[in-house]
Amino acid sequence: MTASQAGQLFVVATPIGNLNDFSARAIETLKSVDLIAAEDTRHSKPLLQHFAITTPLLSLHEHNEQQRSELLLQRLQAGESIALISDAGTPLISDPGYRLVSLVKSNAIQVLPVPGSCALITALSASGIASDRFSFEGFLPPKSGARRQQLSQLKNEQRTLIFYESPRRLLDTLNECITVFGADRRACLARELTKIHETIETRSLADLRDWVAADANQQRGECVLLIEGASTVITADEQEMERVLALLLPELPVKKAAAIAAGITGGSKNEAYQLALKLQQK
Ligand code: SAM
Repeated sequence: MTASQAGQLFVVATPIGNLNDFSARAIETLKSVDLIAAEDTRHSKPLLQHFAITTPLLSLHEHNEQQRSELLLQRLQAGESIALISDAGTPLISDPGYRLVSLVKSNAIQVLPVPGSCALITALSASGIASDRFSFEGFLPPKSGARRQQLSQLKNEQRTLIFYESPRRLLDTLNECITVFGADRRACLARELTKIHETIETRSLADLRDWVAADANQQRGECVLLIEGASTVITADEQEMERVLALLLPELPVKKAAAIAAGITGGSKNEAYQLALKLQQK
């Protein structure tokens, strides 16, 4: 069998809320393929019924993706066309499908995207936070320690940070973000996008936390959290200088602490002095 006799795999985005965001091409593709691989067939049925799509469904989720991908590859090699969908939005984006796409491509079968809704792009486009460079971080770890560690690694990231977050953990995460990034960093909570209760609120992290804490409705539904990138990057040398100064400043006058810190770290006395003054104001 040559690649041209094989079928094609379509990666089809579905709406994240508003059904009118389902593209004509997506509907047409789902009607025309031989099979739809869906993350949760029960979840997708009402959507497909609404658009009179009667194509047979097969599940492909986190737990069966490996073995289902082999089966789907065989069917593609036999000439069938298949569409992949997830529960909402773009498959593979915090959703299953990567293993399938990777396997299919490595077997020289065409993979065609049918783009549409994606929560992170939808949120970014209306957040008012810099959109030229961003880093999508997916879901943060559910446990507080691991979450804070991951956030700490992103402290100096200059690109806009985008997270998917559970509304139940939103307040804890906002508090941890304040600890790591500082209360003044701007952030946006984009909730229930394209749905009736859509909310897109951009404020400083501290204001956003207070606003969410004051209104239980903001801790419901689906949400995306965006955080402005760092405006200045602290280098490893500066971090070391800060660490040494933090130890010396409680014991010594500023000038002496700065001189010793510069000696220990090999940095300049003047920079150590300026940093010491800043640390004293904190
Ligand atoms: N594949 C999807 C996409 O393209 O965005 C994401 C799937 S991921 C399992 C689900 C998460 O996406 C939710 O927990 C939430 O963080 C975000 N999300 C999905 N729909 C959303 C919406 N309408 N408003 C806000 N966030 C949404």
